[in-house]
Amino acid sequence: MQIKPAARLNLLPPYLFAELDRLKRELQQTGVDVISLGIGDPDLPTPRPIIESLQRAAENPLNHRYPDYEGLERFRQAACRWYERRFGVKLDPVHEVFALIGSKEGIANFATAVVDPGDIVLIPDPGYPVYFSGCVFNGGEPYFMKLRRENSFRPDFGAIPPEIARRAKLMWLNYPNNPTAATIDRPFFESAVAYCLKHDIILAHDVAYSEIAFDGYRAPSVLEVPGAAECAIEFHSLSKTYSMTGWRVGFAVGNAQLIRALGLVKTNMDSGVFQAVQEAAITAMDSGDESVRKYCAIYKERRDLMVELLRKLGLACEVPRATFYLWAQVPPGYTSASFTERVLREAGVVITPGSGFGKGGEGFVRFSMTVGSERLKEAVGRLAALRL
Ligand SMILES: *Cc1c(COP(=O)(O)O)cnc(C)c1O
Repeated sequence: MQIKPAARLNLLPPYLFAELDRLKRELQQTGVDVISLGIGDPDLPTPRPIIESLQRAAENPLNHRYPDYEGLERFRQAACRWYERRFGVKLDPVHEVFALIGSKEGIANFATAVVDPGDIVLIPDPGYPVYFSGCVFNGGEPYFMKLRRENSFRPDFGAIPPEIARRAKLMWLNYPNNPTAATIDRPFFESAVAYCLKHDIILAHDVAYSEIAFDGYRAPSVLEVPGAAECAIEFHSLSKTYSMTGWRVGFAVGNAQLIRALGLVKTNMDSGVFQAVQEAAITAMDSGDESVRKYCAIYKERRDLMVELLRKLGLACEVPRATFYLWAQVPPGYTSASFTERVLREAGVVITPGSGFGKGGEGFVRFSMTVGSERLKEAVGRLAALRL
Protein backbone atom coordinates (compact mmCIF):
# COMPACT_ATOMS: atom_id res chain seq x y z
CA MET A 1 0.00 0.00 0.00
CA GLN A 2 1.19 3.50 -0.77
CA ILE A 3 0.97 5.94 2.14
CA LYS A 4 -0.01 9.41 1.10
CA PRO A 5 0.14 11.95 3.95
CA ALA A 6 -2.36 14.82 3.91
CA ALA A 7 -1.60 17.60 1.45
CA ARG A 8 -1.42 20.13 4.31
CA LEU A 9 1.92 18.67 5.33
CA ASN A 10 3.36 19.96 2.06
CA LEU A 11 2.52 23.49 3.19
CA LEU A 12 5.22 23.39 5.85
CA PRO A 13 8.49 25.11 4.94
CA PRO A 14 11.58 22.91 4.45
CA TYR A 15 12.97 22.12 7.88
CA LEU A 16 16.05 24.27 7.97
CA PHE A 17 17.29 22.75 11.19
CA ALA A 18 17.47 19.19 9.81
CA GLU A 19 20.82 19.74 8.08
CA LEU A 20 22.23 21.46 11.17
CA ASP A 21 21.04 18.60 13.38
CA ARG A 22 22.77 16.14 11.07
CA LEU A 23 25.98 18.12 11.11
CA LYS A 24 25.85 18.44 14.91
CA ARG A 25 25.49 14.68 15.35
CA GLU A 26 28.30 14.07 12.88
CA LEU A 27 30.63 16.37 14.84
CA GLN A 28 29.66 14.79 18.15
CA GLN A 29 30.42 11.36 16.75
CA THR A 30 33.93 12.48 15.86
CA GLY A 31 34.40 13.60 19.47
CA VAL A 32 33.83 17.36 19.16
CA ASP A 33 32.56 18.94 22.41
CA VAL A 34 29.60 20.74 20.83
CA ILE A 35 28.19 23.73 22.76
CA SER A 36 24.51 24.22 22.07
CA LEU A 37 23.20 27.77 22.11
CA GLY A 38 20.52 26.64 19.72
CA ILE A 39 17.30 25.83 21.50
CA GLY A 40 15.24 27.95 23.85
CA ASP A 41 15.14 25.51 26.72
CA PRO A 42 16.32 26.70 30.17
CA ASP A 43 19.24 24.80 31.70
CA LEU A 44 18.30 26.00 35.21
CA PRO A 45 16.31 23.35 37.09
CA THR A 46 12.66 23.66 38.10
CA PRO A 47 12.67 25.18 41.62
CA ARG A 48 12.53 22.66 44.47
CA PRO A 49 9.11 23.59 46.00
CA ILE A 50 7.45 23.04 42.62
CA ILE A 51 8.98 19.57 42.29
CA GLU A 52 7.93 18.68 45.84
CA SER A 53 4.41 19.85 45.13
CA LEU A 54 4.26 17.49 42.13
CA GLN A 55 5.62 14.63 44.25
CA ARG A 56 2.89 15.09 46.86
CA ALA A 57 0.14 15.49 44.29
CA ALA A 58 1.27 12.41 42.36
CA GLU A 59 0.55 10.30 45.48
CA ASN A 60 -3.12 11.26 45.47
CA PRO A 61 -5.24 8.78 43.46
CA LEU A 62 -7.76 11.52 42.71
CA ASN A 63 -5.08 13.07 40.51
CA HIS A 64 -4.63 9.86 38.51
CA ARG A 65 -7.92 10.29 36.70
CA TYR A 66 -8.80 12.35 33.64
CA PRO A 67 -8.56 16.03 34.55
CA ASP A 68 -11.29 18.56 33.79
CA TYR A 69 -10.71 20.02 30.34
CA GLU A 70 -10.58 23.62 31.49
CA GLY A 71 -8.25 22.91 34.41
CA LEU A 72 -8.91 22.61 38.14
CA GLU A 73 -10.91 25.52 39.51
CA ARG A 74 -8.02 26.08 41.96
CA PHE A 75 -5.59 26.25 39.06
CA ARG A 76 -7.71 28.83 37.26
CA GLN A 77 -8.11 30.84 40.45
CA ALA A 78 -4.35 30.76 40.98
CA ALA A 79 -3.86 31.99 37.41
CA CYS A 80 -6.28 34.86 38.14
CA ARG A 81 -4.47 35.75 41.37
CA TRP A 82 -1.14 35.72 39.57
CA TYR A 83 -2.54 37.79 36.74
CA GLU A 84 -4.02 40.41 39.02
CA ARG A 85 -0.88 40.64 41.13
CA ARG A 86 1.33 40.87 38.09
CA PHE A 87 -0.68 43.00 35.66
CA GLY A 88 -3.45 44.50 37.77
CA VAL A 89 -6.05 42.86 35.54
CA LYS A 90 -9.04 41.06 37.08
CA LEU A 91 -10.26 37.93 35.30
CA ASP A 92 -13.21 35.60 35.79
CA PRO A 93 -11.76 32.13 36.50
CA VAL A 94 -14.86 30.41 35.06
CA HIS A 95 -15.14 32.11 31.68
CA GLU A 96 -11.86 33.85 31.01
CA VAL A 97 -9.20 31.22 31.81
CA PHE A 98 -8.40 27.83 30.28
CA ALA A 99 -5.54 25.47 31.21
CA LEU A 100 -3.16 24.47 28.42
CA ILE A 101 -0.80 21.54 27.94
CA GLY A 102 1.92 24.12 27.33
CA SER A 103 1.14 27.25 25.36
CA LYS A 104 2.34 25.76 22.05
CA GLU A 105 -0.64 23.45 22.18
CA GLY A 106 -3.00 26.36 22.83
CA ILE A 107 -1.47 28.47 20.07
CA ALA A 108 -1.87 25.66 17.53
CA ASN A 109 -5.42 24.79 18.62
CA PHE A 110 -6.49 28.42 18.70
CA ALA A 111 -6.05 28.62 14.94
CA THR A 112 -8.43 25.67 14.59
CA ALA A 113 -10.89 27.55 16.78
CA VAL A 114 -11.00 30.79 14.76
CA VAL A 115 -9.46 30.41 11.28
CA ASP A 116 -11.65 29.46 8.31
CA PRO A 117 -10.28 28.56 4.88
CA GLY A 118 -9.33 31.77 3.05
CA ASP A 119 -9.02 33.87 6.21
CA ILE A 120 -5.89 35.93 6.47
CA VAL A 121 -3.72 35.55 9.55
CA LEU A 122 -1.26 38.35 10.33
CA ILE A 123 1.99 36.77 11.46
CA PRO A 124 5.18 38.42 12.69
CA ASP A 125 8.23 37.64 10.54
CA PRO A 126 10.56 36.46 11.98
CA GLY A 127 8.34 34.59 14.42
CA TYR A 128 7.62 31.47 16.41
CA PRO A 129 6.82 28.85 13.72
CA VAL A 130 3.54 27.62 15.27
CA TYR A 131 1.64 30.78 14.20
CA PHE A 132 2.34 29.79 10.59
CA SER A 133 1.61 26.06 10.88
CA GLY A 134 -1.63 26.70 12.80
CA CYS A 135 -2.68 29.10 10.05
CA VAL A 136 -1.96 26.89 7.03
CA PHE A 137 -3.17 23.64 8.64
CA ASN A 138 -6.57 25.29 8.85
CA GLY A 139 -6.61 26.70 5.32
CA GLY A 140 -5.69 30.23 6.41
CA GLU A 141 -3.50 32.52 4.33
CA PRO A 142 -0.51 33.98 6.15
CA TYR A 143 0.34 37.65 5.74
CA PHE A 144 3.77 38.39 7.15
CA MET A 145 4.25 41.51 9.21
CA LYS A 146 7.98 42.24 8.93
CA LEU A 147 9.80 42.95 12.17
CA ARG A 148 12.56 45.29 11.06
CA ARG A 149 15.46 46.48 13.12
CA GLU A 150 14.75 50.09 12.19
CA ASN A 151 11.25 49.68 13.69
CA SER A 152 12.69 48.10 16.85
CA PHE A 153 11.37 44.73 15.63
CA ARG A 154 7.73 45.85 15.83
CA PRO A 155 5.20 45.47 13.02
CA ASP A 156 4.12 48.63 11.25
CA PHE A 157 0.32 48.36 11.25
CA GLY A 158 0.09 51.29 8.85
CA ALA A 159 1.98 49.26 6.24
CA ILE A 160 -0.67 46.52 6.11
CA PRO A 161 -2.67 47.03 2.88
CA PRO A 162 -6.39 47.84 3.45
CA GLU A 163 -7.46 44.80 1.40
CA ILE A 164 -5.40 42.55 3.70
CA ALA A 165 -6.78 44.25 6.81
CA ARG A 166 -10.32 43.70 5.52
CA ARG A 167 -9.80 39.95 5.08
CA ALA A 168 -7.70 39.43 8.19
CA LYS A 169 -9.28 37.35 10.93
CA LEU A 170 -6.45 36.99 13.40
CA MET A 171 -3.23 38.78 14.37
CA TRP A 172 -0.39 37.19 16.34
CA LEU A 173 1.93 39.25 18.51
CA ASN A 174 4.67 38.07 20.86
CA TYR A 175 6.45 40.41 23.30
CA PRO A 176 8.96 39.95 24.83
CA ASN A 177 9.77 38.51 21.44
CA ASN A 178 11.25 35.25 20.29
CA PRO A 179 13.55 35.28 18.32
CA THR A 180 14.49 39.01 18.31
CA ALA A 181 14.37 39.55 22.13
CA ALA A 182 12.58 42.85 21.40
CA THR A 183 10.30 44.35 24.03
CA ILE A 184 7.45 46.87 23.91
CA ASP A 185 5.66 49.15 26.32
CA ARG A 186 1.96 49.64 26.82
CA PRO A 187 1.41 52.31 24.11
CA PHE A 188 2.37 49.74 21.47
CA PHE A 189 -0.41 47.45 22.70
CA GLU A 190 -2.80 50.41 22.70
CA SER A 191 -2.14 50.91 19.00
CA ALA A 192 -2.44 47.16 18.33
CA VAL A 193 -5.80 46.95 20.12
CA ALA A 194 -7.07 50.06 18.33
CA TYR A 195 -6.02 48.60 14.97
CA CYS A 196 -7.63 45.22 15.64
CA LEU A 197 -10.89 46.72 16.94
CA LYS A 198 -11.08 49.02 13.91
CA HIS A 199 -10.66 46.11 11.48
CA ASP A 200 -12.51 43.37 13.43
CA ILE A 201 -9.37 41.32 13.91
CA ILE A 202 -8.86 38.90 16.79
CA LEU A 203 -5.68 39.77 18.66
CA ALA A 204 -3.74 36.80 20.04
CA HIS A 205 -0.75 37.61 22.18
CA ASP A 206 1.90 35.05 23.08
CA VAL A 207 3.50 36.15 26.32
CA ALA A 208 5.77 33.18 27.07
CA TYR A 209 8.68 35.42 28.16
CA SER A 210 6.86 38.03 30.28
CA GLU A 211 8.82 37.19 33.44
CA ILE A 212 12.31 36.80 31.98
CA ALA A 213 13.12 40.49 32.19
CA PHE A 214 15.95 42.71 33.45
CA ASP A 215 16.96 46.24 34.37
CA GLY A 216 13.59 46.95 35.99
CA TYR A 217 11.64 46.27 32.80
CA ARG A 218 8.17 44.85 33.40
CA ALA A 219 6.52 43.36 30.34
CA PRO A 220 2.88 44.43 30.01
CA SER A 221 -0.11 42.21 29.27
CA VAL A 222 -2.20 43.20 26.26
CA LEU A 223 -5.24 42.91 28.54
CA GLU A 224 -4.08 45.96 30.49
CA VAL A 225 -5.31 48.06 27.56
CA PRO A 226 -8.92 49.30 27.82
CA GLY A 227 -11.00 47.59 25.13
CA ALA A 228 -8.64 44.61 24.78
CA ALA A 229 -11.18 42.29 26.39
CA GLU A 230 -13.36 42.80 23.30
CA CYS A 231 -10.85 41.30 20.89
CA ALA A 232 -7.89 39.74 22.68
CA ILE A 233 -6.67 36.45 24.06
CA GLU A 234 -3.30 35.92 25.70
CA PHE A 235 -1.23 32.74 25.92
CA HIS A 236 0.81 32.25 29.07
CA SER A 237 3.30 29.52 29.73
CA LEU A 238 5.03 28.33 32.88
CA SER A 239 7.81 26.83 30.74
CA LYS A 240 10.29 29.68 30.64
CA THR A 241 9.19 31.50 33.81
CA TYR A 242 9.77 28.56 36.14
CA SER A 243 12.07 26.39 34.00
CA MET A 244 9.24 23.91 33.38
CA THR A 245 9.47 23.24 29.63
CA GLY A 246 9.16 19.49 30.09
CA TRP A 247 6.13 19.71 32.37
CA ARG A 248 3.71 21.00 29.73
CA VAL A 249 1.56 23.57 31.45
CA GLY A 250 0.30 27.01 30.55
CA PHE A 251 -3.00 28.83 30.26
CA ALA A 252 -5.00 31.10 27.98
CA VAL A 253 -6.83 34.15 29.31
CA GLY A 254 -8.98 36.85 27.78
CA ASN A 255 -12.20 37.35 25.86
CA ALA A 256 -14.76 34.79 27.08
CA GLN A 257 -16.02 33.91 23.57
CA LEU A 258 -12.49 33.25 22.36
CA ILE A 259 -11.75 31.13 25.43
CA ARG A 260 -14.96 29.20 24.80
CA ALA A 261 -14.06 28.54 21.16
CA LEU A 262 -10.57 27.35 22.13
CA GLY A 263 -12.08 25.16 24.84
CA LEU A 264 -14.44 23.56 22.35
CA VAL A 265 -11.51 22.55 20.11
CA LYS A 266 -9.49 21.27 23.05
CA THR A 267 -12.37 19.26 24.49
CA ASN A 268 -12.39 17.38 21.21
CA MET A 269 -8.63 17.06 20.82
CA ASP A 270 -7.06 16.44 24.23
CA SER A 271 -7.97 15.60 27.81
CA GLY A 272 -6.40 18.35 29.85
CA VAL A 273 -3.32 18.81 32.04
CA PHE A 274 -2.29 16.08 34.53
CA GLN A 275 -3.74 17.35 37.82
CA ALA A 276 -0.54 16.79 39.77
CA VAL A 277 1.19 19.11 37.29
CA GLN A 278 -1.58 21.64 37.86
CA GLU A 279 -0.95 21.42 41.62
CA ALA A 280 2.74 22.11 41.01
CA ALA A 281 1.79 25.02 38.74
CA ILE A 282 -0.39 26.49 41.52
CA THR A 283 2.65 26.34 43.82
CA ALA A 284 4.74 28.04 41.14
CA MET A 285 2.24 30.85 40.51
CA ASP A 286 1.52 31.46 44.21
CA SER A 287 5.05 31.30 45.56
CA GLY A 288 7.55 31.21 42.71
CA ASP A 289 8.42 34.93 42.52
CA GLU A 290 11.65 34.55 44.46
CA SER A 291 13.03 31.88 42.13
CA VAL A 292 12.05 33.97 39.11
CA ARG A 293 14.09 36.88 40.51
CA LYS A 294 17.03 34.57 41.14
CA TYR A 295 16.94 33.08 37.65
CA CYS A 296 16.55 36.46 35.97
CA ALA A 297 19.69 37.63 37.78
CA ILE A 298 21.54 34.66 36.28
CA TYR A 299 20.21 35.37 32.77
CA LYS A 300 21.14 39.04 33.15
CA GLU A 301 24.71 38.14 34.08
CA ARG A 302 24.94 35.90 31.02
CA ARG A 303 23.45 38.62 28.84
CA ASP A 304 25.95 41.23 29.98
CA LEU A 305 28.81 38.82 29.41
CA MET A 306 27.62 37.77 25.96
CA VAL A 307 26.80 41.25 24.67
CA GLU A 308 30.25 42.42 25.68
CA LEU A 309 32.04 39.46 24.13
CA LEU A 310 30.03 39.43 20.89
CA ARG A 311 30.47 43.15 20.37
CA LYS A 312 34.22 42.72 20.74
CA LEU A 313 33.98 40.25 17.87
CA GLY A 314 32.15 42.85 15.81
CA LEU A 315 28.75 41.15 15.94
CA ALA A 316 26.16 43.89 16.29
CA CYS A 317 23.34 43.22 18.73
CA GLU A 318 20.98 45.17 20.96
CA VAL A 319 21.05 44.71 24.73
CA PRO A 320 17.76 42.92 25.36
CA ARG A 321 15.53 43.93 28.29
CA ALA A 322 13.95 40.48 28.32
CA THR A 323 14.18 36.82 27.19
CA PHE A 324 17.31 34.66 27.27
CA TYR A 325 18.12 35.29 23.62
CA LEU A 326 20.53 37.53 21.78
CA TRP A 327 19.65 38.48 18.23
CA ALA A 328 22.81 39.37 16.39
CA GLN A 329 23.56 40.48 12.84
CA VAL A 330 25.79 38.13 10.87
CA PRO A 331 29.08 39.60 9.63
CA PRO A 332 29.27 40.89 6.04
CA GLY A 333 29.57 38.19 3.41
CA TYR A 334 27.43 35.63 5.22
CA THR A 335 23.82 34.57 5.16
CA SER A 336 22.16 33.35 8.36
CA ALA A 337 22.61 29.78 7.17
CA SER A 338 26.22 30.05 5.95
CA PHE A 339 27.29 31.77 9.18
CA THR A 340 25.52 29.21 11.35
CA GLU A 341 27.09 26.38 9.38
CA ARG A 342 30.60 27.78 9.66
CA VAL A 343 30.23 28.40 13.39
CA LEU A 344 29.05 24.84 13.89
CA ARG A 345 31.57 23.19 11.60
CA GLU A 346 34.65 25.12 12.69
CA ALA A 347 33.85 26.13 16.27
CA GLY A 348 31.48 23.35 17.36
CA VAL A 349 28.92 25.92 18.53
CA VAL A 350 25.24 25.53 17.68
CA ILE A 351 23.33 28.76 17.10
CA THR A 352 20.05 29.28 15.29
CA PRO A 353 19.89 30.89 11.84
CA GLY A 354 17.41 33.77 11.84
CA SER A 355 16.03 32.59 8.51
CA GLY A 356 14.65 29.53 10.32
CA PHE A 357 12.03 31.89 11.80
CA GLY A 358 10.96 33.28 8.43
CA LYS A 359 12.44 35.37 5.61
CA GLY A 360 12.42 38.42 7.88
CA GLY A 361 15.06 36.73 10.04
CA GLU A 362 17.64 36.62 7.23
CA GLY A 363 20.88 38.31 8.16
CA PHE A 364 20.55 37.47 11.85
CA VAL A 365 21.34 34.60 14.18
CA ARG A 366 19.91 33.79 17.60
CA PHE A 367 22.09 32.89 20.56
CA SER A 368 20.26 31.15 23.36
CA MET A 369 21.88 31.84 26.72
CA THR A 370 20.82 28.59 28.27
CA VAL A 371 24.26 27.36 29.32
CA GLY A 372 26.45 28.61 32.18
CA SER A 373 28.85 31.57 31.95
CA GLU A 374 31.94 29.38 31.59
CA ARG A 375 30.45 27.60 28.60
CA LEU A 376 29.37 30.92 27.09
CA LYS A 377 32.95 32.23 27.42
CA GLU A 378 34.26 29.04 25.85
CA ALA A 379 31.78 29.38 22.97
CA VAL A 380 32.71 32.99 22.26
CA GLY A 381 36.40 32.15 22.58
CA ARG A 382 35.98 29.60 19.83
CA LEU A 383 34.15 32.18 17.68
CA ALA A 384 36.99 34.63 18.23
CA ALA A 385 39.45 32.03 16.92
CA LEU A 386 37.55 31.99 13.59
CA ARG A 387 38.64 35.59 12.88
CA LEU A 388 35.26 36.46 11.40
C1 LIG B 1 8.76 28.49 24.31
C2 LIG B 1 7.72 29.27 23.58
C3 LIG B 1 6.35 28.95 23.64
C4 LIG B 1 5.74 27.73 24.21
O1 LIG B 1 6.11 27.13 25.25
P1 LIG B 1 5.31 25.95 25.89
O2 LIG B 1 6.39 25.13 26.49
O3 LIG B 1 4.55 25.20 24.85
O4 LIG B 1 4.41 26.58 26.89
C5 LIG B 1 5.45 29.77 23.00
N1 LIG B 1 5.84 30.83 22.33
C6 LIG B 1 7.12 31.17 22.23
C7 LIG B 1 7.47 32.37 21.45
C8 LIG B 1 8.10 30.39 22.83
O5 LIG B 1 9.38 30.71 22.66
